Amino acid sequence: MIESYEDALNSKEWRSIGLTFDTDWAPDFVLRELVDELDRFGLKATFFATNPTDVLAESDRLEIAWHPNFMPGSSHGATTDEVLETCRKWFPRSVGMRSHGLIQSSNLLRALSRHGLRYDSNLLLYDLPYLQPFATFYDIVRIPYVWSDASHLLTGRPLELGTLPLDLPGLKVLDLHPMLWYLNSTSPGDYAELKAHHPRLDRLTAAEASPFVQSGSGVRTLLERLASRIVAEGVATYRLIELQQAFRDRQVELGAAAVTDPGEFRPFKFEMR
Ligand SMILES: [Zn+2]
Repeated sequence: MIESYEDALNSKEWRSIGLTFDTDWAPDFVLRELVDELDRFGLKATFFATNPTDVLAESDRLEIAWHPNFMPGSSHGATTDEVLETCRKWFPRSVGMRSHGLIQSSNLLRALSRHGLRYDSNLLLYDLPYLQPFATFYDIVRIPYVWSDASHLLTGRPLELGTLPLDLPGLKVLDLHPMLWYLNSTSPGDYAELKAHHPRLDRLTAAEASPFVQSGSGVRTLLERLASRIVAEGVATYRLIELQQAFRDRQVELGAAAVTDPGEFRPFKFEMR
């Protein structure tokens, strides 16, 4: 029972995990193997997709959201609106997004609202405790995330379960990249080396990728250990669309006045069962 904000800040109760994947043009054979792996453990996940694929299908376990590329020369379009229209054409039912390269701005938040989205997950607050979703002026719920495989590789810390922020209080939205997972990456250079040899990832074959697959403790073995722990301990996983909906429901329950009154402030606690 949480009696005060301070109690909540010291809470270790927020256990549910939101697994997310930024597809970054990973080829279909990689996505297929990853979806099979998630199915094997019965895990829910949100895929931020850069391109259309027949492999990913919406279900009550799998959400498809947008991973728009706003960088110069993007194949998604030349302007913010063009990029978002391309994503809408490919994934008409999506309600969330995370930018490739985490590009963001206040104008972008307004554009997301205009294009019918309900949440973004553009804030990587690595290893920071007490994360929670929050609302913006543009009716977009912001869902920060606490860990990413690419950032973990940059820290040089071992890819062991004990180094994941699973015991931090607050949201535990984690981000992985299918290609890093497939390569079982153990260092930031693995993916760069593959791309130097095969710049067109969408044409990559399993045979071409195999020399670049790493042995030992890497991103793939880490996900397998995490999945095993999730199953063994009965930890729930969720899609970010569920988190966004739960957050909105709580806002309705509290009412707008309560949310803006500091005396009434209660941190959002999200626990899937
Ligand atoms: Zn990306």
